Amino acid sequence: MGLISDRMKTIGPSVTLATSAKAKQLKAAGIDVISLAVGEPDFQTADSIKQAAIQAIENGNASYYTPTPGVPALRQAVLKRTAEDLNLDYEDNQVIVADGAKNVLYNLFQAILNEKDEVLIFAPYWVSYTEQVKLASGTPVTISTEAKNDYKVTVAELDAAITSKTKALILNSPSNPTGMIYSKEELLAIGNWAVKHNILIVSDEIYGKLIYNGHEFISIATLSDEIKAQTILVNGVSKSYAMTGWRIGYALGNPEIIKAMIDVASHSTSNPTAVSQYAAIEALTGSQEIVEKMRLAFEERLNTAYPLLAAIPGFEVIKPHGAFYLFPNVRQAALACGFTTVDEFVDGILMEAHVAVVQGSGFGSKDNLRISYATDLETLTKGIERIHQYVLSKMND
Ligand code: PMP
Ligand code: GLU
Repeated sequence: MGLISDRMKTIGPSVTLATSAKAKQLKAAGIDVISLAVGEPDFQTADSIKQAAIQAIENGNASYYTPTPGVPALRQAVLKRTAEDLNLDYEDNQVIVADGAKNVLYNLFQAILNEKDEVLIFAPYWVSYTEQVKLASGTPVTISTEAKNDYKVTVAELDAAITSKTKALILNSPSNPTGMIYSKEELLAIGNWAVKHNILIVSDEIYGKLIYNGHEFISIATLSDEIKAQTILVNGVSKSYAMTGWRIGYALGNPEIIKAMIDVASHSTSNPTAVSQYAAIEALTGSQEIVEKMRLAFEERLNTAYPLLAAIPGFEVIKPHGAFYLFPNVRQAALACGFTTVDEFVDGILMEAHVAVVQGSGFGSKDNLRISYATDLETLTKGIERIHQYVLSKMND
């Protein structure tokens, strides 16, 4: 009998986390590696949030199990923040807090999918969607979107992909890895399509506060009562509050689905870490100025990095509107540098130019690579400059 389950045979490791781990290893070995790999803010969590956690430890609140979907004060904080930010109201039985948005999504797919149920995922997609669907015995059905449509899915593409097994679609606006944001009209078209076909909308809005240069974020759930009822809204504190290590995310929506997610969590994690929950209450209810301060820093980084990247020969890049990634198509550059695949090119960039970026193949887009600009301006500029010099030197070889 094999050691590892059949289920795991089709599951790869998270390439974002694996690349970042590789960069850390090289750094530990004394190599001056610049990591533009992982999507995590370089900022420290705000002192006010840290203090709330320290207090929860000192007053004993952090010592015990909490209710599986999170302490009532945190669930109320989530409801209040959502009402304030999106003007959307949910009831107490429509919210679950879990260990990061990643764990929220994991619980969701476990809760809703029967074997071979299909989930529509738009490529380029965040690396964990396909694997989480497979872990829940579902079938990820990827739809390749086109650069000329700003990597956004169209209703015609949805029509071509739907089958009698289609259960849900995953929408991620702003998108990791492309940084694209869907407009109101585009969201309405997708939302109405999902309502018409009774397809659940999983709306991953983790980057919803990271929008730049005057662009606008719209949550699909705000567009009509029918669309809201059809949507599970997913969010968390990792990206907007620089709290990736605390592991707090949440979902809002249909109470029956939320209850099933809570049941899944009750047998796996029991509850999100208590101390992190108290930190998250402060994040969601305290001053929101910290969010804006970080957003402005990301905006400046985007506006600096984008032209530098676009100037590299063979790099075609659409300027993102949100999140903190750039996702150039680098096929021409890879070929001009003597590589046959972008994966090999990305490996060359790491091993020879000492810059860690993530290969697009992990996001279902083999001609691209992803650069995270969640790092300080100097490091970011230096990293892109190194890639530029590397490309020039390889092209002249
Ligand atoms: N969704 C997307 C699109 C992401 O990029 C991430 C990255 N971490 C997550 C969900 C999960 O975030 P977390 O688990 O840190 O809340
Ligand atoms: N979501 C981030 C990224 O895409 C963090 C790593 C992960 O969870 O995949 O880099």
